Parts: sequence; C-alpha cells; structure tokens
Amino acid sequence: MNSLATSWEENFTKNYSTPNIQLVKGKGVWVQDKNKKSYLDFISGIAVSSLGHAHPAVIKAVRKQMQLIAHTSNLFANEPALELAQALRSKTTRSAKVFFCNSGAEANEAAFKLTRLANPKKTLSLENSFHGRTMGALSLTGQVGKQKGFGPLVPGIDFIEPNNIEDLISKSEDVGSIFFEPIQGEGGVVDLRIDFLEALASTAKNNGAYLVADEVQTGIGRCGYWYFSESLNLAPDVIVLAKGLAAGLPIGAILVFGELADRFTPGSHGSTFGGNPISCAAALSVIKTIEKENLLENARLRGEQIVRNLASNEKVVSISGAGLLRGIKLSSGNAKQVALTSQLAGLLVNAVSDDVIRLAPPLIVSEKQIDQACEILHKSIAAT
Ligand code: PLP
Repeated sequence: MNSLATSWEENFTKNYSTPNIQLVKGKGVWVQDKNKKSYLDFISGIAVSSLGHAHPAVIKAVRKQMQLIAHTSNLFANEPALELAQALRSKTTRSAKVFFCNSGAEANEAAFKLTRLANPKKTLSLENSFHGRTMGALSLTGQVGKQKGFGPLVPGIDFIEPNNIEDLISKSEDVGSIFFEPIQGEGGVVDLRIDFLEALASTAKNNGAYLVADEVQTGIGRCGYWYFSESLNLAPDVIVLAKGLAAGLPIGAILVFGELADRFTPGSHGSTFGGNPISCAAALSVIKTIEKENLLENARLRGEQIVRNLASNEKVVSISGAGLLRGIKLSSGNAKQVALTSQLAGLLVNAVSDDVIRLAPPLIVSEKQIDQACEILHKSIAAT
C-alpha cells in the first residue's frame, strides 16, 4: 500500500473508497496534486466548485466577511444571509422565502419536515433517486443499496419508477408531497421525460400535495439556468439547493413558494450554522459572478459543445443531462477504467455507474478546455 492509502485508512472510517491522489491546490479549471501533477477538473468536487478553484471574487468576499464577523447564529441577523436570500428570490418570478442550512441532505430534511408539517399524508419519491445520507433524506432515496442496513427508515414513503406515468397514477392516492430531481445525478445522470415531470407536477396539484424539486445538483447554473425545474415550467412548491451555491463553502438552502413558506413557526426547525455569513458571502459572490461573466449561457453553450464532440465516438451510446451536468454512456461497462485512464492523462472525471462517466466541469470552463478534455476522453475510451 502506498503512504497515502496507509494514512487514509489509519485515519478515516471506512465509508469512502481510498483515493489514489491528494489534491493540494487549484486555479480556475486546473487542480494540482501532492506530486505537482496537474489535472483539468471536470468533476468540480462533485458539481460543487462552480467557479473553479481560487476564484478572486470568492476569495475577496470570504476574506472581507471573515474580517467583519464569521458567525452570528440565528439569534441575530446578518447582512450576507439577508442579501443572499434576496438574490435567490430575485431569480424566480414567483413569491418565495428561504431557509438556510449546510448541505444538500439537510436541505432535503428541511423540505421533508416542512411538507410533512403542512401535509402529513404519504410522500412519493423516485426509484434510483438520491437525496442525501441523513435518515430522512436517506429514506427518500430510492436506492436499496444505499439504504441497506440502516432501517427502520422513516415511514410513509412510496417509490415510483422514473418515467412511468401509470405507476405514478396508481400510487397517487393520499399523497401529501412528491420529491424528485429534474435530472437524477447520483443515479447516473438519468434524464426524466418532460411529460413525466409534468405528470408529477399535475399529480401534486390535483391532490393538494407539495412538489419538491431537489436541485442540489442541477441548480444555480449547473444546467444552464438558475433553477432547472423552473426552466421546465414545473413551478415546484420547494426548490432544494446546495453543492455549487457557495463554490466550495458548505451551504444548503430551500426556496419555499406560496403559503407553504409560512408553515414553520419559531422553534419548529433550525440550524446553528445555517445562514452563516461566510458561506452566504461566498454564495453572493457566486451569484454576482455568474451574472457578470454570463455563466448561465456559458454552461448551455459548453454543454452543447460536449455533446457535439463526444457524440461522434462510436463507443458512446448516448449523452444525457443538460448544460454542464452530463452523463456519457459507454457501450462497454468500463467507466471506472476510463475515469482512471483519464486521470493518468490529466483529466478528472467520475464513473457514476458501471457504464456512465459524469462530467461536471466548473461553469467557467472555456471552449478550449472542453476540447482538451474531450480529446483525453476519446483516447481513454479507445484505450480501454
Ligand atoms: N440531493 C442531490 C440531488 C444530490 O446530488 C446530493 C449529493 O450528491 C444530495 C442531495 C446530498 O447532498 P450533500 O452531500 O450535500 O448532503
């Protein structure tokens, strides 16, 4: 075993696989490991480093806030949290309020608690979905492998097959809430058909149930829009955010629409670190930079470039996703090997299943960097 593996296994619990490189620093779309080898980062810390690494706007915002005040708790207001809530609300035309926490799982917990509080009937979620690892979010996650051994889970959740409207209708009696990802990220970058997504929305509406769009992976520019579900006109009651929102600092948020926004009462939910000024200042710098550098459009254009480039490869069966969240499905089941070969050639990607490579580069990625990454991928696919 090399020294990294030894030290990792000595120090950490066994819930992650042992990594084979250690990252030390980054600049833009590039990262460098401990041996000074550079890589194009097309994972972005799993769709988190939306502005790449060491972006000057994030550094400036965090440094400035750190010098002012790092933590206030929710006993007192702070300006970055207020400004960030306003900024998130300004990206939709519907009326909304915000709750802040620290991660995607926590944001889903908040959405789960809020919708259960307002409507305690059963919850529908999707098979193959991923909503996080805490008990509520895990209970909503439609993957037996992830839930196995952790029961008893939260009761009152039924799972429907993605893209199966009949299954949805057959399970829609007594439904109080419906959770879905507009694109199933961890499940393999699986697209959901628009008629199925619309059926989720109409089922919620017709049954007086709440529709919750988990946009932890698809939101804040990743798919070319602030809120991908809104670009599809689904008008969810809750949008769940995390990952890329603060470009690497921990944050989670829910955007709650309409009357549901007033259902929590003082003391009914909370988070010590939620809305902390540092993460909120970072998130504000992300939103301003996306606006200033026109990164929503960049995500859409660079995403189309990925599709054009890789679709010509005969071992690529299909390309899923939207904007800069893409799943490259390979005819062989060797996505892990392709990821490893790419890494050796200086490109970080991840195998999200046996036959799908996920690409999620920073939103700042350039046309040239997409071409560079695709060239490495073509070679890795050919070599494996
Ligand atoms: N929801 C979705 C759609 C995700 O992709 C993830 C993480 O991959 C989560 C929730 C959980 O987020 P976190 O790991 O920040 O708890």
